[in-house]
Amino acid sequence: MDLIKLKETLDSLNLPTFRYRQIIKNYYSGRYLNFDQMTDLSLDLRQKLSESLNLLSVSEKNIVGDDSTQKVLLELSDGQKIESVFMDYDDWLTACVSSQVGCSLGCHFCATGKMGFKRNLTPEEIVDQILYWNQKIYPKYIGRVVFMGMGEPFLNWDNVLTAINIINSKDGLNIGARKISISTAGVADKIIEFADLDTQINLAVSLHSADQKIRESFMPIAKKYSLSQLKNSCNYYVGKTNRQLFFEYALMDINTNQNDAKLLIDFINSNRLFFLNLIPLNTVEGGMTPASPSQQKAFINYLDQSRIEYSLRRSFGQNFAAACGQLITSK
Ligand code: SAH
Ligand code: SF4
Repeated sequence: MDLIKLKETLDSLNLPTFRYRQIIKNYYSGRYLNFDQMTDLSLDLRQKLSESLNLLSVSEKNIVGDDSTQKVLLELSDGQKIESVFMDYDDWLTACVSSQVGCSLGCHFCATGKMGFKRNLTPEEIVDQILYWNQKIYPKYIGRVVFMGMGEPFLNWDNVLTAINIINSKDGLNIGARKISISTAGVADKIIEFADLDTQINLAVSLHSADQKIRESFMPIAKKYSLSQLKNSCNYYVGKTNRQLFFEYALMDINTNQNDAKLLIDFINSNRLFFLNLIPLNTVEGGMTPASPSQQKAFINYLDQSRIEYSLRRSFGQNFAAACGQLITSK
C-alpha cells in the first residue's frame, strides 16, 4: 500500500487519528485481502477506501512450490514483475524478499544479474511482499525476513531502510531486528554506513572467492571494491557491532581447489566473528559450473583441517527455480 496516498486519502476524509491508526493496524495484521473485509470500519468508510486505494501494491501472477518453499511472481503497478519466496523449514516462517527489479551487478552465476537492472522497489513494494505472504498463510505469519531475493539491497538503501523500519516497528510488522538479514555482494562503503547504524540486523556478504582475480572473473563488483577493501569494511562492521558476519560461498568448479581453500581459510580466520556459509551452486542458464561431488568433498576436507567454523546449507526450491540466484522475471 502506498502510505503517502493512504495518508492523503484519510486526510481528505477528515478522519480522527484513532481511525487512521486502526486502519494501519488492520493493514499490517495481514488478515485482510481488501478493505471490505475490515468490518470494524463503517460500510461507508470501507467503500471510500476501496474506491481510492489498493490494499497491496503488488498482485499475484503465478505461484509455485511445495509445503516448505513457495515462490510467487508479483506484478507491480507499472507492470514490472518481481519474485518473492516463502520458506517454512526452520523455527521461523521466512520471507525472502526482493529489493530491486533485476540487478545492475551482473554476477555471472545469478539469473537476476542476467536480467540487468530495471528499477528500485519502493518501501511499500518491499513491505507488501511480506504482507502478501501473511495474507497467504494467515493465521500463521512471517517471523523472519531475508533480503536475498532479486537485487542488491545496498544499492537501494534508502528504500530498504525505510521498509526495514516498517517491518521492525511495533506499529508495523513487529519483526525483531535479529530476525532480519541483509545480503550484499560487497558494496564496501555501504557496509561501513550500515555498521554505523549499530542495529541488530544480520549481515551476510557474498564472498564466493577469496582470490581477487577469480572473484573479479565472475563478480564485476569485485573490480570496484577489492577484496582488501571489502575485508576492511567487514572488520569495521564486526568491530563496531560485535556481531557475527556471515560470508556466503557457493561451491563452483573454479573456487574449490586447494589454493582456494587456503585463501578462504586465511580470510575467515582473520576475524573471530567471521562465519562461513557454504552453499551448493544452483544452476542457472548460462551461469557457472557447480563443483562436482568429489571437488566439494575435497574442498570441505581442506576446511576441516583448519579451525574455521562453517555451515553447509541445504538448498531449497530448486525444482521450481526458487533457490538463491534463480529468481528471474521478464516484463
Ligand atoms: N544481491 C545480494 C542479495 C541477493 S542474492 C547479494 O548478492 O548478496 C542472494 C544470495 O544468493 C547471494 O549470496 C548470492 O551470491 C547468492 N546466489 C546468487 N546466485 C546463486 C546461485 N546460482 N547459486 C547459489 N547462490 C547464488
Ligand atoms: Fe545482483 Fe546479488 Fe545476483 Fe549478484 S548475486 S547479480 S548482486 S542479485
